[in-house]
Amino acid sequence: MKKTFTLNNGVEIPAIGYGTWQTRDGEGAVEAVEAAIKAGYRHIDSAACYHNEKSVGEAIKNSGVDRSELFITTKVWNPDRGYENTKKAFEASMEKLGLDYLDLYLIHWPANAKQFDNWDEINLETWRAMTELYKEGKIRAIGVSNFLEHHLASLMQTEVKPMVNQIKYHPGLRQEALVEYCRKNNIVVEAWSPLGSGKLMSDAALQEIAGHYGKNAGQLCIAYALQNDVLPLPKSTNPERIVTNLDVDFVISEEDMAVLNAMPELTGNVPNPDEVDF
Ligand code: NAP
Repeated sequence: MKKTFTLNNGVEIPAIGYGTWQTRDGEGAVEAVEAAIKAGYRHIDSAACYHNEKSVGEAIKNSGVDRSELFITTKVWNPDRGYENTKKAFEASMEKLGLDYLDLYLIHWPANAKQFDNWDEINLETWRAMTELYKEGKIRAIGVSNFLEHHLASLMQTEVKPMVNQIKYHPGLRQEALVEYCRKNNIVVEAWSPLGSGKLMSDAALQEIAGHYGKNAGQLCIAYALQNDVLPLPKSTNPERIVTNLDVDFVISEEDMAVLNAMPELTGNVPNPDEVDF
């Protein structure tokens, strides 16, 4: 199994990230992130809008694992777009996380044409702030999330190109054209909701295929992303699932990959970045 992905600036990123969306700030979140680090995750995916950066930071501190072994991501939330706001948002996140440098900072969602006439300019201004922070050495890598090709186009013309695009990705939602565009442009694709926010776990077809390898549907979805060269970010607060979601060292057969690739979208929740109004 792939252990790391290499970003276009040479930075290595652990191949499975631990998701933290909907893990409520507080003791439970600290415990969950600590359990994840103890289980072996070295890559934590956080975001300002998850309101749990403080807990993530506390867990990092409690873990006893050297900071240099951990890869920490957070994201600038939508109201904080723009040059000045992004700089402030970054400082606020760093204070909550209790870190003196960040591994990866992402624009959580692109400003879109539905909400802003100057959406492209807003994204570029956010990017300019992130580029400065990157060049100052405060962030090791910068990227985007939920960006479609037309949102990426202007950023691809700037001095520092996006290194990551984090998008919704799971069996039934492959976003093939976008993934191919990212691949061609040396942008690592990360999968959010790699298990379809848990909704795919009861699917009989996935369970059957997982059974071919003595695995569960969660492990199958994680291996599926990796085998398609996409970096999965599974979330679990369940101590057992935190552990099993890392146990994905198996190869899905070509035949099973073909079935998974042809699956319909089953989660019923595919937000369109051009249509969202948040
Ligand atoms: P997910 O990882 O696809 O699924 C998590 C859900 O599945 C939870 O309800 C979890 O419950 C359950 N689960 C986990 N492992 C399981 C297993 N092996 N078997 C059965 N159920 C299992 O969902 P997600 O949180 O939507 O996405 C993952 C991460 O992506 C987020 O946490 C976040 O870091 C990131 N994300 C980013 C964006 C973005 O816009 N950039 C949007 C959404 C998410 P338990 O906790 O009870 O195990």
